[in-house]
Amino acid sequence: MSENSEIQFVPKEEISGVDVNAVTVDSFGRDIIFGENGLIYSRTSGDIRPLVRPDKQAQSTVFEIVAGKYWYTTPFQIGASTQNLADTILERTGLHILPHAVKELLIAGFSFGLTPVYTGKKWLSLAQAVKDEGFNPYAWTVGDKEWQETKYHQSGLSKYIPPEGFLVPEGTSSEKTAVLLEELRRLNIAPPLLIVVDDKLENLQALERQLPPDLRGVFTSFHFKPENDLADANYFFHWLRDMSREKKVSPERVFLAMDVDNVLLRTNEILFGVFTSWLASLVQNKDNRVLSLS
Ligand SMILES: [Mg+2]
Repeated sequence: MSENSEIQFVPKEEISGVDVNAVTVDSFGRDIIFGENGLIYSRTSGDIRPLVRPDKQAQSTVFEIVAGKYWYTTPFQIGASTQNLADTILERTGLHILPHAVKELLIAGFSFGLTPVYTGKKWLSLAQAVKDEGFNPYAWTVGDKEWQETKYHQSGLSKYIPPEGFLVPEGTSSEKTAVLLEELRRLNIAPPLLIVVDDKLENLQALERQLPPDLRGVFTSFHFKPENDLADANYFFHWLRDMSREKKVSPERVFLAMDVDNVLLRTNEILFGVFTSWLASLVQNKDNRVLSLS
């Protein structure tokens, strides 16, 4: 029997000493706590202990499963993607986890989703740092609307970018280009500086090809690479600040569009970090004997 097959999520809470994300109750009536560090804890009468850490085997098996991104782009289409992931996990690891629980864990992971940046004074989210500088960025993405909106709220991106600045057409990358061109047309005045940042070069190139002539001269793109310190969030933030000064355009007059996945949000880090670790931890602790540690 697997107690993890009946995960019920309750709202997150604060517990001293552990950065708590989601709390659930297992079949023994214990609280199960999902920590920001990727570990899972159990709590019995106030006593909090980590469950057995996932070993390398569990970690790498789950990593492989999660990396098969067939399920990720539309994870909410239950019956297709999340179901698919849950089935693969059961088949490969013996952990019986409901699609609903996979979905909730995925959402919970995005509580830590905002990309961090060091501004020179302190660590902030990239979204906040850019806002604090005076920019009013658009969040620019494409795909399953429900999933994109869930990430937008769960991560806290909604605190920095209002709904009208959240451009999320359904469909493919050509819709992504179209929605930005439409927003520029709607504003009716060419901005003095148009900056677009994305981790997919094709998106930047497609946009550049389709820009009307009056915007080509003010367009600058930034190819964001989260794993390269000459193109990551820290680099981008300083580049952006310098660009606005160099072009003598104040931040509030810059039209800035920032991609969501792997730019404003550290999507891959969440998928292959906490989300993978939590699943691996559940795999490692699926046996009652191991769970009875606490
Ligand atoms: Mg992206």
